[in-house]
Amino acid sequence: MSHDYPYAEKFDVNRTLPEKGRPRAEILAELREMATSEDASWESGKCSGTMYCGDHEHYAFMNEAFGLYAHVNALQRDICPSQTRFEGEIIAMALDLFHGEAIQGTTPAGLVTSGGTGSICHAVLAYREHAAQTRGVTRPNVIKPETAHPAFDKACHLFGVELRKAPIDKKTTKVDLDWVRDHIDDQTVAVIGSACNYGYGTIDPIAELGEIAGERGVGLHVDGCLGGFILPFGQELGYEIPLFDFRVPGVTSISADTHKYGYSLKGTSTLLFRDKALRNSQYFFLTDWSGGKYCSPGMEGSRSGGLLAATWASLVSLGREGYSGYAKEIFDASAVMQVAVRSHRELEMVGEPTFLFSFTSNEFDVYHVNDFMRLRGWRFNGQQYPNALHMAVTRPQTQPGVAESFAADLDEAVTWAKAQHSAGVPAKSSAIYGGVAGGMTDEADEFIRLVMGDMMDRHQSLPPVSA
Ligand SMILES: *Cc1c(COP(=O)(O)O)cnc(C)c1O
Repeated sequence: MSHDYPYAEKFDVNRTLPEKGRPRAEILAELREMATSEDASWESGKCSGTMYCGDHEHYAFMNEAFGLYAHVNALQRDICPSQTRFEGEIIAMALDLFHGEAIQGTTPAGLVTSGGTGSICHAVLAYREHAAQTRGVTRPNVIKPETAHPAFDKACHLFGVELRKAPIDKKTTKVDLDWVRDHIDDQTVAVIGSACNYGYGTIDPIAELGEIAGERGVGLHVDGCLGGFILPFGQELGYEIPLFDFRVPGVTSISADTHKYGYSLKGTSTLLFRDKALRNSQYFFLTDWSGGKYCSPGMEGSRSGGLLAATWASLVSLGREGYSGYAKEIFDASAVMQVAVRSHRELEMVGEPTFLFSFTSNEFDVYHVNDFMRLRGWRFNGQQYPNALHMAVTRPQTQPGVAESFAADLDEAVTWAKAQHSAGVPAKSSAIYGGVAGGMTDEADEFIRLVMGDMMDRHQSLPPVSA
């Protein structure tokens, strides 16, 4: 969580806006130096998630597309009709991927948002507004599986929606359907399912959730932020992945991040709706403002034309063939790594994962494994309840030899973990990831505020008044 900060000694610190500007070449050299050394940390392929593409040629292409429209405000369509082409086609292509053609009786629609959290916030807002307008719901609630992303908690917090967290089966990690059924009431606006969830890479029983939601007349949002642009290709390649898209009756919206496995630049995601009326219910416009008539399709005001151009360019440059090829490499690399995990009886895979997997141990604190793997340059995401390590396989892991070196390093890590455990030594990284375990104590609250402040407040010229 807290991070090393190597730049204070290396570069001049700007505590005020510099009086005179600096030469561009000098600035670019400084930026390049930092970027090159930071990229080295994931280029090895030993970093879970976050760098979904990892291909500098693709990044250069993205940046060129971005650069042509970076200065454009996508809101000003009279100046830039190009944005109508990009946005409309991104939505159409995403609807096609999630089988919008299966939709009957309503008109499908979509939004391009700023990221997974953006898509989830817009979805929750749309369900709240639509239910208020059509059902007179005044005290809305949403039901999510405990494993669904914290963005739902954030959205519900922001929009005054009650969030009900459904328990999961510890073994399969899938949501408890009876619990969901029992907790839907006349104020429920939507139920959530993940395809797949971030923690375990497992998929909730979407067909069953769709049946329940359909029967009770509430929405079903499928969170495909992570899996949206890879699972459909996995399905086509024959991996065992249940249907989770608009072919499932009852699915009313899907979020899918173009900035993850869509391989676009950070800052973009798609949100697709079975019924245009649901999307339109969250529109905001002000027709009697002295500054003129104002309207925007979502929460953002000005939006980057560059991001729409890059996202469009990513989709059309790769096409189904490109995405499918990358998906195959990722599923294959993940399979090699999963076989390695399963080969150790001390380790236990959590649920039935897809391209992303998570493992724990009943014999020792699995953070011992993390401690060792870190020495070998691996970077996993840590989990709690139970302690587990999560590996989101991305394109950098599909480089030759990476999955094999995972297997070899894991062999040694397990031996080391057993020895540490026998010697009664606590795992080092357990203190970082599990250090605030036990919920929001005052101590945890203060620690998290310090970590977040550390990201933003380091260079203020005024002395801090308090944490
Ligand atoms: C990443 C992710 C999100 C949130 O997306 P951001 O782009 O980080 O805002 C939501 N759900 C899942 C399953 C995710 O993996």
